[in-house]
Amino acid sequence: MAPELKIWRGQVRAWLAETLPPKLVQQHDGPVDLSVFRNVSDAEETRLLEAVRVYRRARYDAGYGTLTLPVEQGGAGLSASYAIAYAQEELRFAVPQSSELISVSTGLVGPAVAMFGTSQQRQNYAQPFLRTDLLACQLFSEPGAGSDLAALACRAVRDGDEWVLDGQKVWTSGARHAEYGLLLARTDPDVPKHKGITAFLIAMDTPGLDVRPIRQMSGGSSFNEVFLSGARVSDGLRVGEVGQGWKVATTTLSFERTASGSGTRRKGGTFDDVLGLARSLGRTGDPVVRQSLADLYIRSVLKAATTERVARAAAAGVSPGPGASIGKLLASDLLVRTGDVAAELLGARVTADAGEPGQFAWTQHLLGAPGYRLAGGTDQIQRNVMAERVLGLPPEPRVDKDVPWGQLARG
Ligand SMILES: Cc1cc2nc3c(=O)[nH]c(=O)nc-3n(C[C@H](O)[C@H](O)[C@H](O)COP(=O)(O)OP(=O)(O)OC[C@H]3O[C@@H](n4cnc5c(N)ncnc54)[C@H](O)[C@@H]3O)c2cc1C
Repeated sequence: MAPELKIWRGQVRAWLAETLPPKLVQQHDGPVDLSVFRNVSDAEETRLLEAVRVYRRARYDAGYGTLTLPVEQGGAGLSASYAIAYAQEELRFAVPQSSELISVSTGLVGPAVAMFGTSQQRQNYAQPFLRTDLLACQLFSEPGAGSDLAALACRAVRDGDEWVLDGQKVWTSGARHAEYGLLLARTDPDVPKHKGITAFLIAMDTPGLDVRPIRQMSGGSSFNEVFLSGARVSDGLRVGEVGQGWKVATTTLSFERTASGSGTRRKGGTFDDVLGLARSLGRTGDPVVRQSLADLYIRSVLKAATTERVARAAAAGVSPGPGASIGKLLASDLLVRTGDVAAELLGARVTADAGEPGQFAWTQHLLGAPGYRLAGGTDQIQRNVMAERVLGLPPEPRVDKDVPWGQLARG
């Protein structure tokens, strides 16, 4: 039986107080990191990852690792209201900044392997991913398969007890720091596209697997291309049945849409940062600036209310459904608008580092915000979901639904 939430929350708070220092009040006079994507060297990334891994392991060992996953899959079997309470308690403490790779390992790949894997895979991989002993990236997107992920072309051909992989993945966050990847490959080109896909775990140091960083316009290289040329993976690393990969993929992506942001590093500037900027520039009396600030404030309150509604629905055991799409769209829109108001305030100063504290930091925000409109499903795809599932508009024509993948025209 689940513990009483109030008592449990007290235990969490006591454990956090023993484990972490309290969060200090944010100082606004030093350089502020407003980047949307972390821009650090590989050595620094490893150091930051290690700090969060130490915390994650302690958290896992204390029984707070994966709260909502069933007990038999290595979780605590608690409802989402416990996860929300945990995240709220964490806010009081200096939690080491998480990163996309940590969320992918503990929130996507770990739970997916726990759900679809064999008991041996759960023990050897799911538990280490959930405890961050091993880190795993998501090898889903390809140059010709992003929004239309089921069109993916990376091939896996069986050879005895192994599979031989050939193809290319792209936009793989954290691939240079991951020990494993959850990879989707086409195992049967002669059935409709959703039916011929199989999921595998692959070690990132497998011969024939080549990771190449992608330099982003914001300066860093958090994404990668991953090339596979005759890379071999044992059938023992297949996750789920042959041809069941689409189910593994959609389940993993549903974890992504409802992932809690606890401990995640903040992405870009906020309304408070823009307000601080307007104050420091002495512009809060300007009626046009006041109008922009009011608009931004209203949008940030609406976004927070939507996030809260999705969280409450999850806590009540209701699938957030299209609500998660509305939340994602509001979040990416707010991020872009926040950057726009900051750029209006800064004018030409946003393009060059003139040495004024905190001002050039907005360049990082402006260059990173567009990427957030794509990650986890683009704005247009979220709008499609809302059009079809909230407004009940006619669905997009799906002419390729019953056509074997091998007969589809590909660009
Ligand atoms: C920050 C970030 C992190 C990422 N991390 C990973 C990762 O770790 N692993 C991974 O596998 N992938 C990752 N991705 C890839 C991400 O999932 C894809 O970028 C995304 O699904 C969009 O696919 P695409 O880039 O191929 O664009 P496309 O699907 O080619 O879309 C191009 C444009 O066409 C629009 N469009 C496409 N289809 C429709 C439609 N049916 N209706 C209306 N408009 C449409 C899109 O909205 C977009 O504007 C990441 C991306 C980003 C930006």
